[in-house]
Amino acid sequence: MEEKIPSFLKEKLEKQYGKDITSKIIQGYKTQRKVTFRVNTLKSNIEEIEKELEKSKIEYEKVPWSKEAFIIENVREKEIKNLDSYEKGNIYVQSLSSMLPPIVLEPKEGTDILDMAAAPGGKTTQIATLVNNKASITACEINKIRAERLKYNIEKQGVTCSYVMTTDARKIDNFFSFDKILLDAPCSGSGTLDINNLKLSEIFTPKLIQKSTASQFALLKKAINLLKQGKEMVYSTCSILQEENEQIINKMLSYGNIEIVPIEFEGMERLPLLPSKIKGTLCVRPNELYEGFFIAKIRKKKLN
Ligand code: SAM
Repeated sequence: MEEKIPSFLKEKLEKQYGKDITSKIIQGYKTQRKVTFRVNTLKSNIEEIEKELEKSKIEYEKVPWSKEAFIIENVREKEIKNLDSYEKGNIYVQSLSSMLPPIVLEPKEGTDILDMAAAPGGKTTQIATLVNNKASITACEINKIRAERLKYNIEKQGVTCSYVMTTDARKIDNFFSFDKILLDAPCSGSGTLDINNLKLSEIFTPKLIQKSTASQFALLKKAINLLKQGKEMVYSTCSILQEENEQIINKMLSYGNIEIVPIEFEGMERLPLLPSKIKGTLCVRPNELYEGFFIAKIRKKKLN
């Protein structure tokens, strides 16, 4: 199975993390991840969902860092999608790693929030639950078809505090400013490689990484422009390559107007982490529960 991983990626990972950690990462790519979902607290609650799972004889486990996250033990996604609560939008099937950026963002009620690369909306709808539908969320998406999916999910999840902007986020007018920004940037997906895809080496190429890094930096630069002074944003990708993560952040740090806010939340110590080159940022290792993910929290400095 190992030879299915593009050789240039294996070389990059070994250079970055060493052989031992790389073989753990490759092991993680190969495992079938358990189905996970989040309770949509805008429409339901944890007790109601637990009751439905127990009635359907679906076994689950919880995570230490979120009461709303469920890990399913004995059925696959299809069975979860057959549940009433899925149909009603009371739960949202989402990877555990993908639930972390909104938690790190710590959105507050009554504020202006920008989700810069938003479709299909897992994180937009999660942010809405965290502010109890009481903030103004601008959800931006460049791709028209994906923006339709985003609108569908927003509606299905009962989110009433968001506005979808179908545009290139790099073109948002600097007249706008936000209290919090999530940039869940487009990336190579090196944290979530589908090792069974026979076309993997055609899709996952050095060119894809190059294209991703160019748009990641442009989007991050724009995010900093749109962020109010003294306020915080989150940069995340589902890549575990330094060039899409630490190198992008370091380039931005060299401009001097931002600083890293060390990420801290209860239960974080239980995450499978990879070493990160920037202290205070998180890089999650892919395994049977988590996708590979990078998260950095950034504050725009106040001008004196
Ligand atoms: N945050 C989403 C979620 O949790 O469901 C996933 C976002 S996905 C990693 C990145 C998204 O960014 C894609 O839907 C892509 O079409 C969009 N995108 C790429 N470049 C963009 C740009 N310049 N402006 C706005 N959206 C962009």
